[in-house]
Amino acid sequence: MAQREPISFMEFQQRFVNEEACYQYLFDMRWPEGFCCPRCGHKGYYFVSKRRIYQCKSCSYQASLTAGTVFHKTHTALQKWFWAIFLVATDKRGYSALALMKIIDVSYPTAWLMLQKIRAAMSERDQMYQLSGLIQLDEAFFGGPDGKQGRGTDKMAAYVAVSTTDEGKPLYAKIEVTERVNKETALDFVTRTVSPGSTITTDGLNVYPQLKATSYVHDRVLSSEAEADEKLRWVHTLVSNAKAFIAGTYHGRDKKHLQAYLDEFCYRFNRRAWQPQLFGRLLSACMNGPIVTYADLTL
Ligand SMILES: [Zn+2]
Repeated sequence: MAQREPISFMEFQQRFVNEEACYQYLFDMRWPEGFCCPRCGHKGYYFVSKRRIYQCKSCSYQASLTAGTVFHKTHTALQKWFWAIFLVATDKRGYSALALMKIIDVSYPTAWLMLQKIRAAMSERDQMYQLSGLIQLDEAFFGGPDGKQGRGTDKMAAYVAVSTTDEGKPLYAKIEVTERVNKETALDFVTRTVSPGSTITTDGLNVYPQLKATSYVHDRVLSSEAEADEKLRWVHTLVSNAKAFIAGTYHGRDKKHLQAYLDEFCYRFNRRAWQPQLFGRLLSACMNGPIVTYADLTL
């Protein structure tokens, strides 16, 4: 199976029956043409089975399949990791640590950390891309029972941007939590997430007019609520879907990790056209993902 081919539940079960099958899959991902030494390019190797090390026959370099990936130094079976990734990739409601711990038979802290690591890999992958073209931009408030009504202190503000086709169909999305909504944070968000030359549509909020002075075209909807709803339709739809996702799976309780949940939501949204291939894509993101430790996450 090539890395990005769709995989069904049955195929997944039949294929990843043990640790060996999982390691073989990672080997094929890393070296699709067979082993190749990362240091000298030599093709021959010795397999040091005890440490799962591939030692180059020419320069003795020791390559590991999991070093530098989210599986680095894990004490959890790779098969359990594969299950976690498969479940996260294929169930668009997302998985809570409580649901995952029961399915793959690990402790709650282990399930929680696995999910955080998978989300970090999703987030890192999406940070490689910028939105471009036609962009709808708005701010939203998460963590409370509803949207913009009552910007209470218990809610967290976020910028939400969606790129669309010329016909107004949604393409890709970014959502980023911000300490406060003001001119500086709005410009900072746009500069990092939207490529120059894009046309950005916003409502009349006074934090956005400065975008005009930058390398973006700014279309500000000032006329009526109805027109704003029409021109910012997708960004509004995305906000309500993101709220449903967070409320449904995470019960809106975990404010500290809101950004990670929003990243998971956007990762899934941005790949909705490739749903059947998501397992391979997500596994690949985890192979290249950042190493996140429990200490990083609880700081
Ligand atoms: Zn070598």
